[in-house]
Amino acid sequence: MIKYMKRRNFLTSLAALGVAPHLGACAEIMPTTNLIGTGSQSKRANLKISKVEILQITGKNKRKMLYLKIHTNEGPSGLYGPIDNEAAMFVDQFFRRPLIGQDPLAYNTYWDKMFRASRHSRGSHYIMALSAVDNALWDLRGRLFGLPVYRLLGGSRNKLRAYASCLGFSQEPSALQAKARELKQQGYLHQKWFVRDRGPSFGPGGVEEDVKVVRLLREAVGDDVDLMFDAFWKWDLQYALAWTRRAEQYRPRWIEEPFQTANLDAFIELSRETSIPVATGEHFYSRYDVHKFLKNDAIMVVQADPEWCGGVSELVKICTLASVHGANVIPHGHSLHAAMHVVASQPIEVCPLVEYLIQKMNSYYYFEKHQPKPVNGILELSDRPGFGIELDESKIQDIRPVSWQQT
Ligand SMILES: [Mg+2]
Repeated sequence: MIKYMKRRNFLTSLAALGVAPHLGACAEIMPTTNLIGTGSQSKRANLKISKVEILQITGKNKRKMLYLKIHTNEGPSGLYGPIDNEAAMFVDQFFRRPLIGQDPLAYNTYWDKMFRASRHSRGSHYIMALSAVDNALWDLRGRLFGLPVYRLLGGSRNKLRAYASCLGFSQEPSALQAKARELKQQGYLHQKWFVRDRGPSFGPGGVEEDVKVVRLLREAVGDDVDLMFDAFWKWDLQYALAWTRRAEQYRPRWIEEPFQTANLDAFIELSRETSIPVATGEHFYSRYDVHKFLKNDAIMVVQADPEWCGGVSELVKICTLASVHGANVIPHGHSLHAAMHVVASQPIEVCPLVEYLIQKMNSYYYFEKHQPKPVNGILELSDRPGFGIELDESKIQDIRPVSWQQT
């Protein structure tokens, strides 16, 4: 259960954040527009992390989201979010105190230290928390140097091709085709659709229906749009082989997560048997998971998520690894800031696309002034420092540090 800080500590924290309390009827607390200092004046050698806060933001519509803020002793701070609840809890438990006094520039040192600090560091919520810390530190460094993260990473392109990720749209044939045509008109030259409602228990009829989805979409968009398909772990090898044999004629760009990520052998076998590139990776933790799949020729598309796999720092390493194997890295799009900046930092041959989950992104960045949204299928990065996150005070009713610790 979240434990709120005492009011005095809370107000002190807000003062440090540049957040001024307003004593209105609802005792609303609003951030100032200068919530995060750019800190261009602070590039001193003794820069240290001075405080780590998990901020719970509550909207006037009662919506709540968590952001991670990392302060330094000399002014600049880093902000990243929204972060997953599980990541926030682990940041609070395992990372908040060890971060104090660390050099925010020495991200490789810190990442490695924390990866070795727990016998359970290889996956799950621990590495999600490490990802959140890593991403907030990248934002901090961007604000320190007055540059967007993708520029710090050595990138130069600020326009990224987005693919429409169509989770949640109707699969009724006429609605399916109408939406695919609509998205094409909006400039989406790449669309991912989901074939996760059936599977082995449906028998040959299930395969028939899942191939029909492919055929309907190809008929709807013609030959000049890439179509991708996500089975969301719902298939087994026989089902996947039956589907790929029949779907190949419609030229899917990839089939994603036909099996659970744990089932490496099934990925190897499917990749051996089909010409359709096989994709997975949103559940990869660190470069070591990716390496197992690439060295076995199990996939051609790596979908590591920079909020789950170890952060921007780890995803950059994964891109290097994938480039050696001739594989693409197209990060999972459950969020966008870190993914966009890593993609922009890499050669387009390695990272050609960004996933844009249309329905989720409608509200995911609710509290931010600059919500990433493709125009004509293109996502454009700004030149704001860090990830360019600025909170929209007009939507915020309350912002406060939270903790799950008992003391
Ligand atoms: Mg997926």
